[in-house]
Amino acid sequence: MLRVATIVDDTEAEGPGRRWALWVQGCSIRCPGCCNPEMFVADRGTATELAELRASMERAKAAGVEGVSILGGEPFEQAAGVAEVARHARRIGLTVMVYSGYLLEALRARGDDAAALLAEIDLLVDGPYDRARPEPPPPIGRRWIGSTNQTMHYLTSAYRADDPRMHAANTVEIHWRDGKLIVNGWPVGAADLVRKKKTASP
Ligand code: SF4
Repeated sequence: MLRVATIVDDTEAEGPGRRWALWVQGCSIRCPGCCNPEMFVADRGTATELAELRASMERAKAAGVEGVSILGGEPFEQAAGVAEVARHARRIGLTVMVYSGYLLEALRARGDDAAALLAEIDLLVDGPYDRARPEPPPPIGRRWIGSTNQTMHYLTSAYRADDPRMHAANTVEIHWRDGKLIVNGWPVGAADLVRKKKTASP
């Protein structure tokens, strides 16, 4: 079981290419200015069977997504379950991008399920959000990064820093799913960068 806040099954606003995105519920770091404070509390969201998540990823893969992005909430606070999700993603040929408020060195030192999750990650963005140091929008700043203290770690050869997709403009998406409006991506305040995308209910 994994405590899940939200899933968007096909997005181009949360990492390279088309991705299945999973926001996990629960984060004890609680950075001031976090854009997802409703995901702080661990017992909200929906307890979701791993089998259901596996099936959802398989549908996304069949529809043409290239990878999964796992955000939060804090993925390493449910490391064992998230590792299972990431392992299955790679098993079916998807890449794995994860955001964590913990630093990579701290995760490597933990010696628990964090190691199992780290072993399944291609691209890791680490570090807490620091609202005093906002990342400027591309091309001056980096795409998909909230604050300048955060680092994008290329843990495998799946992605490269010189990939042009890493330097394009951030985008926002609007999804209509199961009667609910979901807005995801990286607000930049420019209407011409808002891409409306209506996702059919499964
Ligand atoms: S670590 Fe991420 S999810 Fe947790 S409070 Fe900070 S920005 Fe929000």
